[in-house]
Amino acid sequence: AGFLPFEHAPYFDFTDPGVAQAQKDAFALVRSRHVGRTFPLLIGGEAVNGAGTFAVSNPGDTREQVWHFQNATSEQLEQAVQAAQNAFQSWQVSDPLQRATVFMRAAQLLRARRMEFNAVMVLENGKNWAEADGEVAECVDHFEVFARETLKWAQGKPVYPMPDEHVTTVYEPIGVVAVISPWNFPAAIPLGMALGAIAAGNTVVWKPASETPLSSYLMVELLFQAGLPRDVIQFLTGGDDVLGDPLVDHAGIRMIAFTGSREIGCRIYERAAKVQPGQKWLKRVMAEMGGKDATVVCADSDLDAAAAGIAQAAFGYAGQKCSACSRAIVEDSVYDVVLSKVKAHAEAMVVGLPESNAATGPVIHGGSLERILKFVEDGRKSATLVTGGEKPEGELHGAYFSPTIFGDVQPADPLFQQEIFGPVLTFTRARDWRHALDLANDSAYGLTGSFYSRDPQKISEARRLFHVGNLYINRKCTGALSGTHAFGGYGMSGTNAKVGGPDYLFWFLQTKTVAQRY
Ligand code: GLU
Repeated sequence: AGFLPFEHAPYFDFTDPGVAQAQKDAFALVRSRHVGRTFPLLIGGEAVNGAGTFAVSNPGDTREQVWHFQNATSEQLEQAVQAAQNAFQSWQVSDPLQRATVFMRAAQLLRARRMEFNAVMVLENGKNWAEADGEVAECVDHFEVFARETLKWAQGKPVYPMPDEHVTTVYEPIGVVAVISPWNFPAAIPLGMALGAIAAGNTVVWKPASETPLSSYLMVELLFQAGLPRDVIQFLTGGDDVLGDPLVDHAGIRMIAFTGSREIGCRIYERAAKVQPGQKWLKRVMAEMGGKDATVVCADSDLDAAAAGIAQAAFGYAGQKCSACSRAIVEDSVYDVVLSKVKAHAEAMVVGLPESNAATGPVIHGGSLERILKFVEDGRKSATLVTGGEKPEGELHGAYFSPTIFGDVQPADPLFQQEIFGPVLTFTRARDWRHALDLANDSAYGLTGSFYSRDPQKISEARRLFHVGNLYINRKCTGALSGTHAFGGYGMSGTNAKVGGPDYLFWFLQTKTVAQRY
């Protein structure tokens, strides 16, 4: 509908001194514009206060509190669901072209403020510049992609004809969607889910992770500036006692779109199955959960490329991606050489302050570090520590941990099976490449995987047998692009909703068949 051809938003080149200076200036802007502020809840188009506030701290230097957010009350949850239901009455009949136009305008507004959004994310989430930039660029792409998807799904689909009856298949919105999101992609993940809901004509109760609410809040504000009616999204922050189970259980919620841990995802799936008094539908649940993603290296592959891909996917953003490579599975004959190459990458990575754009930063908080340390302590007994395994040296105030590699890891080891969500990589020796694939598939999860080989025969087998939702051949397993690499896994990685993919909106719609005789 008159849009320019699609292109992914390009990343900034921070090696250019001018670009780097602009990013530094954006930190100054954020420090004067946002640091120290207290942000409201957004309910029915009004900015309101909750019952007290909580502080968000900078994971890069936990002595710094950056901003404050509200603790919503149970009454405010009620008001928010009510407001979303009211807004649904008009938004469900909104013009798809209006919706698409709002998204296109949001993309434009965001392009102009990318560095500011990067800086906010660095300060509350601990990503370095490039990681934050990748995520904000993904948000631009999301707006562009969902604008086009809105119009695509508004058209319905053709049916096989019959005489004497005119039949159409059209897609209609379903109601209020609760969007519950994690801290590791605090803008792109909730935005993807919320845009899915809104593009389809639904309204939203948006609950961001408490660690990283401003990256979400700014996206909501941006959508309002772009022309989204202010009652279409209700933005609620606060404790899980008010916004966890009670939001999931609420009879007014039609669907829950969740991304986060396997534990919480399974809990939501189970609770949502119960039909509450007054509830007139079966709740729909989208639950995108963890990964234990493997990179398989065949002996015939480009070993330098494989090692670089593994190191980047394992230690970028301190391994806190569900797409992160946490298991390298290497053919015996090249195991030692690949291990030593990845070790060299790991040891060359500077661990330091995200705001100074260090290669790898802290994990999100002390609680997360403690969990990682437990895995590492146990791993010292069951496997061979190759590098890392300790806090880096230097004046760092946060949950920093060195890139860590374990060798000789056996498939039954918790290091091999459980999602650690930190900069911890395992190496496992495979007898041959088929054995390597079997080892890769020895997991409850099935999110991403990488396969390195130059042999077309092996590649075609891997395409068929590698049991993951996102398979990458001869490249790293992180960094899915909206619109191109539909993202979502198999097995316990979740419902395979495939955000950014051609069928994503179907999750937020119901199908109506109308047969008419004249
Ligand atoms: N979409 C991201 C990627 O492809 C990962 C999202 C996540 O970790 O939740 O790297």
